[in-house]
Amino acid sequence: MKSTFFSKLVNNPFQDPVLYVRFRREKGSVMFDCGDVYGLSVREIQKISDIFVTHMHVDHFIGFDNVLRCLLNRETPINIYGPRGIIDAVSHKLMGYTWNLIKGYPLKIEVSEVRRDTILRASFYASEGFNKIARSGTPFDRAIMTKTGLIVETDIFDHGIEVLGFSLYEDTQININKALLLERGLSPGPWLNELKTAIREDIKDASFTVDGRCYHLNDLIDLTMVTKGQKIAYITDIAPSEENIQKAISLAQCADTLYIEAFFLAEDIERAHKRNHLTTAQAGQIVREAKVKSFEVTHISPKYINILDRIKKEVKEASLLAGV
Ligand SMILES: [Zn+2]
Ligand SMILES: [Zn+2]
Repeated sequence: MKSTFFSKLVNNPFQDPVLYVRFRREKGSVMFDCGDVYGLSVREIQKISDIFVTHMHVDHFIGFDNVLRCLLNRETPINIYGPRGIIDAVSHKLMGYTWNLIKGYPLKIEVSEVRRDTILRASFYASEGFNKIARSGTPFDRAIMTKTGLIVETDIFDHGIEVLGFSLYEDTQININKALLLERGLSPGPWLNELKTAIREDIKDASFTVDGRCYHLNDLIDLTMVTKGQKIAYITDIAPSEENIQKAISLAQCADTLYIEAFFLAEDIERAHKRNHLTTAQAGQIVREAKVKSFEVTHISPKYINILDRIKKEVKEASLLAGV
């Protein structure tokens, strides 16, 4: 399967996190978290259409100013998604500068603030001196971004404050085997789309009328070729609670790559509870129970700077434990 997107961690796990994702077909990029962006070229930053911010602790949001600096002259808007407080956080960042010389600049910033039951929206335009323009909100939907077959899904986690976790995946591809269709003498028609929908939505008792005859899903399923799309998940800065862990397992389910924090060693579990971060053992448990194909550790307490290998080994070992 050809990759639809390519993801890379911009920094080592002791630096402020940034996950950069480049799309193959779209010629654009998105970014998860806005930490230390100095490892990205101006060209790479200028390709970013959407930024997904887990939360506004300084290590995850400090790169905002650098991104803004690179985008001021851009015609296409930048979309920013974040948890409770992101609209105010963006507004306050923007108000920290003097903007009397930018009226002619085209940049538009569109912000979506994910709450439990609603998504609030606001715009900030350079032409308006970046003053906040409130927009009407929409009901909460886990799929916060969809474009040309790509979906970003979110969930809200507890980190003492609300934090977003994300998955990015390609919609399942369902193709019809045209040679087999011809061989069986079935006429193409709208029923093919109905068949694809039934497969996508797993409607096992679906039936279809083709050339005046009724068929069940099982009679036609061999005409289709189903390819599961590529998927990554990015989850960091979550308290080591059972609820968070279950949410993480569900969000990362069957991802090709899970980017996950392992902020503390397993033996430092008490500290992990106090600081609302995962341990290596819990990161490994999520990797294992979400059945992900591979994982990368994104965020580790700087106090372990000399024992990176031990951290990685603990996560790996926990990911291989027999299920309980
Ligand atoms: Zn952090
Ligand atoms: Zn944090």
